[in-house]
Amino acid sequence: MVKQTIQIFARVKPTNKTTAVYSVDNEEQSGGSLEFILPRDLADGFINNKRESYRFRFQKVFDQTVNQEEIFEAIAKPVADTVLAGYNGTIFAYGQTGSGKTFTITGGPERYSDRGIIPRTLSYLYQHFSRDSSMVYTTHISYLEIYNEVGYDLLDPRHEASNLEDLPKVTIMEDPEQNIHLKNLSLQPSANEEDALNLLFLGDTNRMIAETPMNQASTRSHCIFTIHLCSREPGSATLRRSKLHLVDLAGSERVGKTGVGGQTLTEAKYINLSLHYLEQVITALSEKNRSHIPYRNSMMTSVLRDSLGGNCMTTMIAMVSVDKRNVDESISTCRFAQRVAMIKNEALLNEELDPSLLIIRLKKEIQGLKEELAMVTGEQRSDDLTQEEIQRIEDQLKVFLDDPDPEVTLELGPDMRKIQHCFSFLKARLREEPSTQKGADDISPRPSSSLTDRPDSQANRELLKLKDMLTQRDNEISILHSNYIALLSVV
Ligand code: ADP
Ligand code: MG
Repeated sequence: MVKQTIQIFARVKPTNKTTAVYSVDNEEQSGGSLEFILPRDLADGFINNKRESYRFRFQKVFDQTVNQEEIFEAIAKPVADTVLAGYNGTIFAYGQTGSGKTFTITGGPERYSDRGIIPRTLSYLYQHFSRDSSMVYTTHISYLEIYNEVGYDLLDPRHEASNLEDLPKVTIMEDPEQNIHLKNLSLQPSANEEDALNLLFLGDTNRMIAETPMNQASTRSHCIFTIHLCSREPGSATLRRSKLHLVDLAGSERVGKTGVGGQTLTEAKYINLSLHYLEQVITALSEKNRSHIPYRNSMMTSVLRDSLGGNCMTTMIAMVSVDKRNVDESISTCRFAQRVAMIKNEALLNEELDPSLLIIRLKKEIQGLKEELAMVTGEQRSDDLTQEEIQRIEDQLKVFLDDPDPEVTLELGPDMRKIQHCFSFLKARLREEPSTQKGADDISPRPSSSLTDRPDSQANRELLKLKDMLTQRDNEISILHSNYIALLSVV
């Protein structure tokens, strides 16, 4: 079990507009900090109480010049490593629309070097798989978009989406153990990096086609790209399953600022509502002794349930714009990140036994033990006794049973099959016995020979008496006989 708080990083988007005064400090031992300095408001000639400095702590702050490679190395690689070790991992990008969430998570379309966390992580994982021959890895990909509280499968290949609504709707199911299952979200196998990148491309295309100027879904929806990893040692029945969620959240801007009506307002209500629920969950998780966590309030918090608190290594990137007009939003993004940083997670290794693999392993073990036995006993054993062996045992048994000597033994050798056969044979005999004995009792009295079996009985004593008398008589006769011979010789 690994205990740690959610890691928070900040990334400042490059800009050539006038920026607010801000400073980045990564020299501190305990991490980095980002500070905004706002001019004091001068109203009616006197200074009001508005704070002028806002300072936020992060694990590290990445300023405007930091490139995608550095972001991957510092943020995503450690999470990918824990996923390879069998834990769940989540990276989510939070910030207002235009702050660089999609650029950071997926990448920019123009240059290869603009590739974001998803393609770089895929490349890193598949490189690891090909180098590590001590494990067998299987990977599946899913790509979910949540828009107005409805989930859509971006990877469903049957659909040529012209509208987001044309994609299959994903619904949440909860099993009795309160595990979340997503119905209709396809898990696409991806054997190599190319397959995985094609799936990412397919998902992003569906995401873009569905988006029109009227329906700018991508800034108003949450996208969750998930890599499902399964690993095991060759021949082992222990499976390790882990998931890596890479989450591009909807824009975090407040409704008031967008200030539009109609559909956009509904969307904004939903985005803000689900981010509001995310915030509630995060606040609840960061409070000690809170037993109820309101995961169920929104689809996003339900999906990320096992990835926010609890069993996960979670990392958040706060996307910050330092343009003057965006500072308010950037400060609220940083505030949110500070609350997220208070959540402690306990990541557990996801190990389980695969019954079919277990059976294969046990069969192998049995075969091995049989061979060992054959080596020790010097004879090859099959599962069943041969007809000859059975005949020999039954002959032995008959001799054993017919021998009146109570001390007689039956030599079978250290072979459970023979011992079992004897028991079965005796059982069969015993089951026959009562019926024959009962029949005999009905027809005639016990045979006289049975008297000798009971030396203490009355009859036996009588018999002994008679025997004595007989011997006495014999003696008398022989005396008489010898006297008679003697008399004859005198005569
Ligand atoms: P979001 O997803 O948060 O709405 P985007 O990622 O779409 O924001 O970024 C808005 C624009 O800014 C895009 O054109 C993107 O290419 C550009 N951009 C964002 N971050 C960077 C960066 N670090 N370097 C270069 N361009 C960036
Ligand atoms: Mg975006």
